[in-house]
Amino acid sequence: MADGRSGALVVRGGTVVDVEAGVARRGDVLVVDGRIAEVAERVAAPGGAAELDASGRYVVPGLIDCHVHVTAGSADLGAVAESSPYYVAAQASAVLRGMLRRGFTTVRDVGGADFGVAAAVEDGLWEGPRVVFGGKALSPTGGHADLRGPGRTALDQHACCPGLGRVCDGVDEVRRAARDQLRTGAHHVKVMLSGGVASPTDRIDSLQFSADEVAAVVEEATNANRYATGHAYTAAAVNRGLALGVRCIEHGNLIDDSSVALFVEKGAYLVPTLVTYEYLRREGAAAGLPKASQDKVGVVLDAGLEALERAWKGGVKIAFGTDLLGSMHRHQSDEFRIRAEVQPPAEILRSATLVGAELIGRAGELGTIAPGAVGDLLLVDGDPLTDATVLAEPDRHLRAVVTAGRVAWAG
Ligand code: ZN
Ligand code: ZN
Repeated sequence: MADGRSGALVVRGGTVVDVEAGVARRGDVLVVDGRIAEVAERVAAPGGAAELDASGRYVVPGLIDCHVHVTAGSADLGAVAESSPYYVAAQASAVLRGMLRRGFTTVRDVGGADFGVAAAVEDGLWEGPRVVFGGKALSPTGGHADLRGPGRTALDQHACCPGLGRVCDGVDEVRRAARDQLRTGAHHVKVMLSGGVASPTDRIDSLQFSADEVAAVVEEATNANRYATGHAYTAAAVNRGLALGVRCIEHGNLIDDSSVALFVEKGAYLVPTLVTYEYLRREGAAAGLPKASQDKVGVVLDAGLEALERAWKGGVKIAFGTDLLGSMHRHQSDEFRIRAEVQPPAEILRSATLVGAELIGRAGELGTIAPGAVGDLLLVDGDPLTDATVLAEPDRHLRAVVTAGRVAWAG
């Protein structure tokens, strides 16, 4: 499934969605050696090209989910960290397959996935979207990736432990931890800027890491021509992170207008993850979410949609994210339904394609159907520019998934 492995494929007679222009036109798409070679009303197929009949279908760019944890096979992240790395990998392969079959052809992992997970997909060992990884998320002691309960003192941070984060304190340690993720090829460095739901001992409204520590991560990521992304809920945590140079904020449920102004000033990105709170509330306990975490869900759930609306109306660059854990991964596409309560479908599709590609540094290559882009395409049976249910209900509407010019799945 690696880019450029296949020969030629013609996707014939569909209605091709131009997300940038917000229009759809009848036409063909020719993919050669994994890249889109031509988009036209009718393309001449090279000899030996495979054909995919798209008549009656819309042809959509492969989707990008910018906030996933593919190694989170359970919502009990402490248990994941103490599980067999082989078992966690097996669960990750099932999670990835599910994502691909919902139309996600690229995912950005912000805690857990490493170079091995990305390579397993790249080398064709696993069926799944390409994985843009950050390695382990950095957390202070007692922070969002410190999954010890209050009565536990031992902390095992061996690289083979399949936890989602790494606990580090002080500028030197934080710097070393950031460099260590970058050493393994991380595309970004994730840093915990506030408390979270899945962690047992922190408060949602806490600020995490000192300003010096955050600045050190930003410096290391920037030096490597990468960027720091921060987990944060409250305006205080978000604003502090943005002021210190964090380029992207995950969640942001409790932002205010001062945050919106700062996002726009800095050109920073926001990745809301609304679906995870809805399902943590409904199914979290059954999925293994510990009691201390269940109590925190309500704090961020109700504010999430309001934050999305505020950010969108204020002109913030918004990517698509989900942040689901364990058995709740199957609800990934529901994020389209939830966002449709405040955004038009075409805008949500932009988040899940163009903006996501820009955030991961692959604008023009991913999330678009244009010559030179990677041949990641979906066939759906309705217009996703006007109807949010088309992408929200892949079981009903998704007909085929093409990754780098190869038909990865067809229903
Ligand atoms: Zn988070
Ligand atoms: Zn997350």
